Amino acid sequence: VASAQANFMRVIVDSNEKNHKEDEEKSGVELLCVVKAVLKKIKRRVLVGDKVLVSSIDWIDKRGMIENVFQRKSEISDPPVANVDHLLLLFSLEQPKIEAFSLTRFLIEAESTGIPLTLALNKSELVDEETQVAWDIKLRGWGYKPIFCSVETKVGLDSLEFILREQTSVIVGPSGVGKSSLINALRGSRHVLEEDNWLANIEGCKWFDDQRVGEVSIRSGRGKHTTRHVSLLPLSGGGYLADTPGFSQPSLMKVTKKSLAQLFPEVKKMLGASEPVKCSFSDCLHLGEPGCVVKGDWERYSYYLQLLDEIKIREEFQ
Ligand code: GDP
Ligand code: ZN
Repeated sequence: VASAQANFMRVIVDSNEKNHKEDEEKSGVELLCVVKAVLKKIKRRVLVGDKVLVSSIDWIDKRGMIENVFQRKSEISDPPVANVDHLLLLFSLEQPKIEAFSLTRFLIEAESTGIPLTLALNKSELVDEETQVAWDIKLRGWGYKPIFCSVETKVGLDSLEFILREQTSVIVGPSGVGKSSLINALRGSRHVLEEDNWLANIEGCKWFDDQRVGEVSIRSGRGKHTTRHVSLLPLSGGGYLADTPGFSQPSLMKVTKKSLAQLFPEVKKMLGASEPVKCSFSDCLHLGEPGCVVKGDWERYSYYLQLLDEIKIREEFQ
């Protein structure tokens, strides 16, 4: 499902049975689909990014009916997208200036989804080489290999395109770092539905009410009039990119006292890849318990403590 609005879903055909020549030709075709009533009845929500089984296909009018939703590999709520393979966390080196603790909060939030992530640092043309090298060294110490880029000068955009190929990605990060600018830069030759205007004539389909073609309105749970717009943009190297950036304020809602330390790659390294953890106590919070191997002078230990306090307070008030 590439986008959805009210009762209509835009579904891109993806045929895996490459030995059927006929199927291969249909791969990439876009179908306008309605959701079968029974799915609505059992409150089975269809999300953008969902893999669905389509029946009653009319290949001429490009219509179909969503019969069932396949099991999701992953699901994020901000924006609501299923089967996200990859998060691209974007910060800027300047305007706004990158700041280590804020970056850590975003990294922890991203790690807590369990979805693989890449870190990119934008506006590289605003800082000198030394600053970039210093951040590169620092972040490698944290367990990340950042990509330096500039939407302005196009530096690094080819590396990003390469990383984004053949998977479904969402860009996340704080506001002002260039997320929307990057999405627009990667948007490329987006195939516009206006060519064959099949959606415009359909009664009840408000697809073209939005300024941007193929956009989606999904009512978010919060706020009466809040709408979230999300659709998946096909990328030139294959794969999809959500046209809406994700969480600009980490809530850390999925992080618990116990899981926090494991979301720091450098701690994971200290403890070794294999469970159980090497601290003497399996529920060690690394605050000075006997036999703890994590408490120490690693760079982000103070950030760990700050975040742990924050999570403790949240858990107490829940
Ligand atoms: P978002 O809030 O993360 O979506 O950020 P925007 O895409 O709205 O960008 C915020 C501002 O940063 C805009 O004025 C952009 O033109 C600017 N911007 C984006 N990328 C770059 C860059 O590589 N270099 C510079 N100097 N400015 C950039
Ligand atoms: Zn410990």
